[in-house]
Amino acid sequence: SAQGGTFEFDVEARQLLQLMIHSIYSNKEIFLRELISNASDALDKLRIRSLTENDVDADISDLHIRLDPDPQQRTLTVSDNGIGMTYDEVVQLIGTIAKSDTAQFLERMKQSDDPSLAQDLIGSFGVGFYSSFMVADEVTLVTRHAAESQGTRWQSSGEGSYTIEPVDDAPQGTSVTLHLKPEDTEDQLHDYTSSAKITEIVKRYSDFIRWPIRMAVEQTDSDGETTSEIETINSMKALWTRSRQDITEDEYNEFYKLVSHDWADPLETIHVQAEGTFEYQALLFLPSQAPMDLFMRERKRGVQLYVKRVFIMDDCEELVPEYLRFVKGVVDAQDLSLNVSRENLQQDRQIQMMRRRLVKKVLSTVKDMMSESPQKYRTFWNQFGRALKEGLVNDPENRDSILEISSFSSTNSTEELTTLREYVDRMPEGQQNIYYMTGDSRASIENSPHMEAFREKGLEVLVLTEPVDEVWVETVPEFDGKKFQSIAKGEVDLDAQGDGGSKDEDFEKRKGEFAELLSWMTTKLDDKVKKVRLSTRLTNSPACIVRDSDDITSSLASMYRAMGQ
Ligand code: ADP
Ligand code: MG
Repeated sequence: SAQGGTFEFDVEARQLLQLMIHSIYSNKEIFLRELISNASDALDKLRIRSLTENDVDADISDLHIRLDPDPQQRTLTVSDNGIGMTYDEVVQLIGTIAKSDTAQFLERMKQSDDPSLAQDLIGSFGVGFYSSFMVADEVTLVTRHAAESQGTRWQSSGEGSYTIEPVDDAPQGTSVTLHLKPEDTEDQLHDYTSSAKITEIVKRYSDFIRWPIRMAVEQTDSDGETTSEIETINSMKALWTRSRQDITEDEYNEFYKLVSHDWADPLETIHVQAEGTFEYQALLFLPSQAPMDLFMRERKRGVQLYVKRVFIMDDCEELVPEYLRFVKGVVDAQDLSLNVSRENLQQDRQIQMMRRRLVKKVLSTVKDMMSESPQKYRTFWNQFGRALKEGLVNDPENRDSILEISSFSSTNSTEELTTLREYVDRMPEGQQNIYYMTGDSRASIENSPHMEAFREKGLEVLVLTEPVDEVWVETVPEFDGKKFQSIAKGEVDLDAQGDGGSKDEDFEKRKGEFAELLSWMTTKLDDKVKKVRLSTRLTNSPACIVRDSDDITSSLASMYRAMGQ
């Protein structure tokens, strides 16, 4: 088979190459991520193959990736001593495009003539080996499969055809040499022969690759002498892949600072290592302080997404719901495609599953914190409670868990917040509902005439003063079988509250006595109120304004508040 010659790319390969060559995509540096990830895969494959089969007797004692920039020649070579490819594999894998999502990618490209879409798509698909042609006008690949003695050289300028030929003296593994396009020379920022630039790109995308990535780095010593030394430029430390017992708190804290750009230590660390049919690791952190922009619309959120230790994206919103936007960290999925796109993330079943599990994990961690370190929990709630309460409205599936870990101000204490569980435990026998009142401030709620009877009877009322409270109380029906009941709305039947029915008769009698006055007042205030009625809820104030049970617009509520209630 190994004849050599010049061959045409297939149609799809040609289309993809055209796109790469003429790409105006600004994030061209991802080509290096793609080449390094291919090299890393090849090293994995060789190691596994030499452990499971005995058809290769390659040396696996020093598996690594090497980067060799040559500023004079304007080339960059990425090589590995991994599994390599046979001649047929090169034809098959590099000469044609068999991948279904690449075909899909091209379909999307064809349907649109918007160049900015091309940018987004290239960035989100990560189009593998061919992305080399974004920065190179000629690419040479030399490879030898670990089980063969003959190597293969493949070369192309990306325009229509490629040449391929057998070579005798190829080292085992693969090396890809990029002849860099001239337009990048003028631009310091895109000089891919600069070891500083290369180091920066490797740190950003490939720092956690498990194999060493080596490069000669120039160093000038104190005498002004320049020496060149081979250095490993990636840290290889994917903390999340190591077993929990072997990681110190310091290591976790340092890592947190790296991903969050925070100065302080995290409040809590959550390390998930999920095995089984769908393997992933997550290392999440609850910060100890809320960011300034927690409630700003434009803020970023989400965690970093990795696939097999390769950095895919920052701020992956699909992995954490809005109300957990303060959670920081990384998620590394073993079975996702590197080519996963932002648009496909939402529909991706694996992403959805990880998200559901991670949400539950965060909520249960907070729950544990409540019992195990109340002080920490208090800090957490002070910083993030307001955001978390949005989940009561937006995440019905986890509503009960969120209610369990929420705290509220109440008339029980002016200093301490209360959980709903504690509220319910304090409820006197016969109390059916959880009473609350919303308002602008604690003072305005406490001075409200609605409060009088409750204070008199010693009934606890939740004091809800945050804007989000107005919203969740309308959507959350109950906690532990107890309904939430506003004390400022409808008829609150306090007499059912335990002290017997003896008042009923009394009350009926007084209703009769006041009937005339009440109907006179109702007519007088016709355009202002629906109804004037006798109430048991007041003790000191002569009258108060009450909302109808289904009169819930908050504009109305704030109108009442503006009236000084
Ligand atoms: P992907 O990595 O998503 O499969 P690529 O375009 O990056 O797509 O690579 C295509 C195929 O070429 C790889 O699946 C692999 O089989 C082969 N390949 C690429 N680079 C190497 C390499 N350095 N060593 C061995 N095989 C490689
Ligand atoms: Mg690849």
